[in-house]
Amino acid sequence: MFVRRRWTALATTSILIAAALAHPGPGAAAPPSPAITLAPTETALVRVRLADRAQLDRLVAGGADLANRPRSRDGEWTADLVLTGRQLADLTRQGATAVQVVQRADDGARHLAESRRAAQERTRAGLRTSGAAAVDTLQFLQAYWWTTGGRTFLQAQVATTATDDPDVEITVSWRTADGATGSFPLYRFEDSGEYQYHYALPQPVPSRPVQLTATSTLGGTSRPVTPSLWPNATPPPQPAGYQKDFIDAYLTPVDIKARIARLGRQYRDLVDVIDLPNKTQGYRRTAAAYLGDPAAAAVVVESVRFGDQGMNGVQVRTVDPGRPNRPLNMRYRDRVLTISLATDGAGKVTSTTDDVAALINAPRGARFRATVEDGSAGLPMPVAGPVRLDDGLQGTEVPSRPWTVQALRIGKHRDGSRIGVLAYSQEHAREWATPLVTLEFAERLLANARTDAATRRLLEQVDVFVIPTVNPDGANYSFHDYNFQRKNLVNHCTGASRDPKNRTMWGVDVNRNYTVGSLFDGYVGASANCLSGNYAGTAELSEPESRNVIDLAKAHPNIKLAMNVHSYGGYFMWPPGAYKADGRVTLPRPSIDESTLFLGSARRIVGAIAAERGTVTWPSQTGPVADVLYSAAGNSADQLYYELGIFAWDFEVGNDRWNETTGQWDGVGFQPPFDEAHAEAQEYAGGLVELVRVARDYAADNPVRR
Ligand SMILES: [Zn+2]
Repeated sequence: MFVRRRWTALATTSILIAAALAHPGPGAAAPPSPAITLAPTETALVRVRLADRAQLDRLVAGGADLANRPRSRDGEWTADLVLTGRQLADLTRQGATAVQVVQRADDGARHLAESRRAAQERTRAGLRTSGAAAVDTLQFLQAYWWTTGGRTFLQAQVATTATDDPDVEITVSWRTADGATGSFPLYRFEDSGEYQYHYALPQPVPSRPVQLTATSTLGGTSRPVTPSLWPNATPPPQPAGYQKDFIDAYLTPVDIKARIARLGRQYRDLVDVIDLPNKTQGYRRTAAAYLGDPAAAAVVVESVRFGDQGMNGVQVRTVDPGRPNRPLNMRYRDRVLTISLATDGAGKVTSTTDDVAALINAPRGARFRATVEDGSAGLPMPVAGPVRLDDGLQGTEVPSRPWTVQALRIGKHRDGSRIGVLAYSQEHAREWATPLVTLEFAERLLANARTDAATRRLLEQVDVFVIPTVNPDGANYSFHDYNFQRKNLVNHCTGASRDPKNRTMWGVDVNRNYTVGSLFDGYVGASANCLSGNYAGTAELSEPESRNVIDLAKAHPNIKLAMNVHSYGGYFMWPPGAYKADGRVTLPRPSIDESTLFLGSARRIVGAIAAERGTVTWPSQTGPVADVLYSAAGNSADQLYYELGIFAWDFEVGNDRWNETTGQWDGVGFQPPFDEAHAEAQEYAGGLVELVRVARDYAADNPVRR
């Protein structure tokens, strides 16, 4: 079944490519599959099958907004990309095929509104054969099975010793306890030019598999192995009357602030609300406008102060003095900046766009700054305006002050005498489900401490820190202006990049701004381009958002375990999270003992996640960041682990869902319909509660030293 689907997919690809090239291809007789299209300026999150590896490399080099690790299968690369219809059309022309619109821009707002409405309603009511002798040896790196939703799945990773032969094909044959057999192909996975292993996405099998064998086209055969049950760990049963389900709608940063305050009041004996030391910029931007016509000749004029600091609504214009031999000059009066253009002896205007921008930028302590619009350099400056400067921000319920990021500290003994656990979420603004996870977790601990003896004992033994939203400014922008916003709201761009047409591309990737294994140290997976989705900032820890996480961890040295909660894709990861490209040299690997702790704890936590609705995080997506996702230079977990000695994990909540109809795994996106986000919050909150138990058990063997 798998093989047939694969060939169907290939045939579809050739049809679409053939159609794009406007001449009939070999598969022209087959029915065309419905094409996925976006309006040219529409932005969406799309799962795209790329033409080839080179296309992926071009996307990465160009700073494309990759939402997930690209998956390789039989030489085909699939990636989740945030892109416009125009960019998708370009990719399609170059041979790519859109296979799933994971999320459209409107979906965020719609799912927010639906979640709130529903909450209110509740309140009211193919193989080459080879005869040659075997020239490679095969070894299973992973062989696991599990059951979810009545379906049994199997996943395997196999390494060949023929690491340099890109054409080796590996097939895994399986047999179940009741004698059924089948097989599926594995795909070569390379990262940064280095062979890693062969693997496949989880495969449905009719019942429990008991034996696997791998064979290669070079004649290699593995020893038969018995796959293990994954994760083979079950949390203690929740007692009767265990309280959960505290989240009934998506929560904006304003909602989160209110929730934190409410928890602080309601559970005074168990909670401190901590104001983190570094205020963010706030939900604010400078006010800007085009003076002139960007399609012809224009200068971008921008306030130096933020729009809410009296600069929204200020007007700017150029005027023809109407007399000969006048100099270029400007005056600012009654909130109108008037630029009188220079004239020659015949009274003809002689000022250029560059002259006007230079004039606006000239005064010391200037109120305004200006850049010549890209493409308008050296052109005659038109008589234009008045135009109104505006910060472009749409949110009306958001205070426009610097924002104080807050943490909850939960436990009976909040004095550093108990082992500390830190859970933090929404470093990336658009990951709306993630604060739901940490807040559900916090409230489960607090509510059950009153009614459940086991929870009460846990809070006697562990000191829990929770930062529900690390990046509230970006989150406010994601909720009110541009749902795919990933970064914070600071604009470090200079020159033409400050053109308002780039307004959705500014900001620093908070999870690339830390100090260990950073871009500035030469590691892969962050960008120096201020418009890139992975922009690392102007320096390590240049951003208050990242400084807050580290300052909290440093101020509380009893914190020994941490979880950085992201979405989406269903990953469970730990250091190393970055490598240098040349030779793929990762940050140091944890010791054997530490690796055992990371993996053993991961299995317990994966088991607890699965206890809620059967979601099983794949073994192939459980492991070091650099191995199972991608290199993420300057991420927070690496800094917590390497600098502060904290066991630091990362969740990517929102696992792919098995689609019984198509026989494929579907991505869920950053802002799924609320029912899905709600389910993610429930299951990953269960995972965080298990992390607290892991901390308790760790402390039993490693008492906190004061
Ligand atoms: Zn993220």
